[in-house]
Amino acid sequence: MKLKGRVAIITGGARGLGKAFALRLAEEGARIAVADILDASAVKDEIVSKGGEALAIYTDVSEVESVGSMVRVVSEQFGRVDILVNDAGIFATLGRKPFYEIHADEWDRVLRINLKGMFLCSKAVYPYMKMQGKGKIINITSSTFFDGVPGFAHYVSSKGGIIALTRVMAREVGDDNICVNAVAPGLTTTEVVKGSPMYPAEHLNISSAKRCFKRNEVPEDLTGAVLFLASDDSDFITGQTLLVDGGASFH
Ligand code: NAD
Repeated sequence: MKLKGRVAIITGGARGLGKAFALRLAEEGARIAVADILDASAVKDEIVSKGGEALAIYTDVSEVESVGSMVRVVSEQFGRVDILVNDAGIFATLGRKPFYEIHADEWDRVLRINLKGMFLCSKAVYPYMKMQGKGKIINITSSTFFDGVPGFAHYVSSKGGIIALTRVMAREVGDDNICVNAVAPGLTTTEVVKGSPMYPAEHLNISSAKRCFKRNEVPEDLTGAVLFLASDDSDFITGQTLLVDGGASFH
């Protein structure tokens, strides 16, 4: 029970990686707020059925009012905010195309959700963490930044921006005893990846072959890293990006 008494907000927690983070942090005693544009009540119910406490809150991370009201509800219901996992993002539905074919509106949409969303959520929780004298912000970036994967210039740029934002925020809130770190997953077989024609079995096999551990990455490969960064075990670690991809890339 490494997170007993803590309150964690998981954006994008209705499914996929965010859901796995919500369930794992709840197992460690955290009260969980799942913030998503999708209905997250099934995740909330699963946590409650196992004896935990959870809220499912409709939130669009790219809208300042929506984010502000979500954080206010969490504070009113749970009395504090200790951990923010910025997981919400879009990627598997983005078609693969070179940068010179990406429409400017699509570029804006990806940056607005993937990068501005993390900025807005971090900004909204900051006053609570500052007041409490401690906080943990964990931003989900991507191994695609390290590889410069072609076909996703907007997505890869948003994920690079997240690493930059993580470093700046870490320096700005160190005096408030708030840790800001990033986790970079490799290609992981979440529902959206398994259901996407962009990731057929051959593509997953090619990704696996590049790893030191030659198998598919699954959500549970990432939950330990997020738990570590959410817990007191990482209190002297900030501004870092932990690449969790089975050893495909090094940095
Ligand atoms: P996913 O699509 O299953 O999960 C993303 C979640 O974010 C969904 O529940 C979705 O509803 C939510 N979301 C989207 N837009 C939102 C918005 N405006 N406001 C609030 N919620 C919103 O995908 P996933 O595979 O679980 O990926 C989760 C995160 O991990 C993403 O940030 C993704 O970029 C990152 N990532 C995934 C992989 C992978 O291979 N699965 C690899 C590297 C990084």
